Amino acid sequence: MSTAEDRHLSPDGIRPPDPADAAVWDAAAQVTDPEIPVLTIADLGILRAAAATAGGSGVVVITPTYSGCPAMDTITADVTEAVRNAGFDTVRVDTVLTPSWTTDWMTEDGKRKLREYGITPPSGHAAVRGGPIRVGLSVKCPRCDSLDTKELARFGSTACKALYQCRACLEPFDYFKVL
Ligand SMILES: [Zn+2]
Repeated sequence: MSTAEDRHLSPDGIRPPDPADAAVWDAAAQVTDPEIPVLTIADLGILRAAAATAGGSGVVVITPTYSGCPAMDTITADVTEAVRNAGFDTVRVDTVLTPSWTTDWMTEDGKRKLREYGITPPSGHAAVRGGPIRVGLSVKCPRCDSLDTKELARFGSTACKALYQCRACLEPFDYFKVL
């Protein structure tokens, strides 16, 4: 890998304008999260950059939702397969940990899909790192839109989520925490 081959790669989560690079991006962008199958890695903001090299390789940069996320091995394998199926014989998937993933990178489309799936999307924006911690935001029930909800468990089905219950319709639901 030469520096020239990496010239397109600014890990900003934006689909590259170059058609060859965009082909790699589009293939990788179809990969879904193993834990939340309605969301693609592009919806989540895990997909940070993609490029086609002069030699015909596909290069993809991803940032895990949290360090040690067990889904990342699956995502890496799925991205490799998807980009290979798009006609790139050699695929490299780089994992970049800095800057760390934040729920701010989740797309509006992704938040809508999450809500439809029955998980309340993160509300508000992550606090500026080192800044004050955001408190007091109401978590809306994804079924009846009531804001009268309570946290049952800090950690839900995965570390990314908390388990809530709605006091209005009594349904328990997952809340995707702001990170
Ligand atoms: Zn409800």
